[in-house]
Amino acid sequence: MKVLVVNAGSSSIKYQVMDMTDESVLAVGLVDRVGIPGSTLEHKPLGKDEVVIKKDLPDHTAGMELVLEVLVNPEYGCIQSMDEIGAVGHRVVHGGEAFAASVVIDDQVKKVIRDCFDIAPLHNPPNLMGIDACQRLMPNVKHVAVFDTAFHQTMEPAHYMYAIPYEAYEKFRIRRYGFHGTSHYYVAHQAAEMLGKPYEDCKIITLHLGNGASMAAIKDGKVVETSMGFTPLEGLVMGTRSGDIDPAIVFFLMDKLGMDSQEANNYFNKKSGMLGLSGVSNDLRDVLEAAASGNERAQIALDVYYNAIKGYIGNYIAKLNGCDCIIFTAGVGENGIDTRADICADLDALGIKMDIEKNKVRGKKVDVATADSQIRIFIIPTNEELVIARDTYGLAK
Ligand code: ADP
Repeated sequence: MKVLVVNAGSSSIKYQVMDMTDESVLAVGLVDRVGIPGSTLEHKPLGKDEVVIKKDLPDHTAGMELVLEVLVNPEYGCIQSMDEIGAVGHRVVHGGEAFAASVVIDDQVKKVIRDCFDIAPLHNPPNLMGIDACQRLMPNVKHVAVFDTAFHQTMEPAHYMYAIPYEAYEKFRIRRYGFHGTSHYYVAHQAAEMLGKPYEDCKIITLHLGNGASMAAIKDGKVVETSMGFTPLEGLVMGTRSGDIDPAIVFFLMDKLGMDSQEANNYFNKKSGMLGLSGVSNDLRDVLEAAASGNERAQIALDVYYNAIKGYIGNYIAKLNGCDCIIFTAGVGENGIDTRADICADLDALGIKMDIEKNKVRGKKVDVATADSQIRIFIIPTNEELVIARDTYGLAK
């Protein structure tokens, strides 16, 4: 069976076609500027050159129509006919407390995705638009929802409740949910293989460090705790998000700068983090470069970034009562040689010792700990699309 994986954002649609007989990727692509003048589609079929198509795409249905046309194009397509696609897997950011695993989409599932609009206003509405568009164009195949939150649903109340009036949870479902679940799930399972132990017997700390970043502590095959919370704003310092701060800063700055709640949301989600602190960029490479050439604010931003990650490593070793491995994944985790080294520096008291030579790699699945490190340090390239495709295939076949 071939599976189409779709990740629909507010103005973009990422897609991938996978042949599940050998899990090979037949094509990947990105539709950009959906609903904005100047839409483009970039399509890369396996073993052929990339094609770029410029065509105005007023909505997600128009975007998906173009994707389907491209997939069967005799010149640069990757399948002969749409009948070859046996199922579609959709990335959905928020499944609330309703889903601890992927599900075949029906009206009830769509209702839950819609019910989560107010707690995931940036993500769930476009995710649902993608589902609606695909169902309209491919009514005869199964559509599966794979949730970013699902993997974290094993957390206990001690780890997901906030110490605010309980009614906030009852009325508004305010609790820790956690995100990047498919990535944490994928690398944690890969790590168990590298450790040569059953996944259920491992104590694992995952560091998904991209533009957005989160960590998870995993034990007995369950997520014990994760750093993102009610929204992806909590936890580590990110490209443009503040991560953990004293919440009083929010009210204080709303007063001082005359911001309403939407402006405050924007301030802490889009203008903070590495961008806000360094004044240079949200891209870690730019901040590293600026710091190396003497920019003091860039260096402070890096130090705050590393400090937050180190803190969570210690926190999670305590909560797991030990740890077999820490895993670096996503853009920074897979590629940031110096960043990984700085994060692991001076953690030998916790049993973490990095082999600086072995660490000089990018995007490879390797153990970069010294032989005598109590805790292994793995670099594992993540593959969220593969998890979505496997879950979709498993539910559709
Ligand atoms: P997302 O999917 O969250 O947008 P990615 O996982 O693609 O993000 O990661 C993007 C981040 O990875 C950027 O901040 C970029 O600077 C960082 N990155 C890529 N290569 C390197 C590198 N060699 N060193 C440090 N950071 C890197």
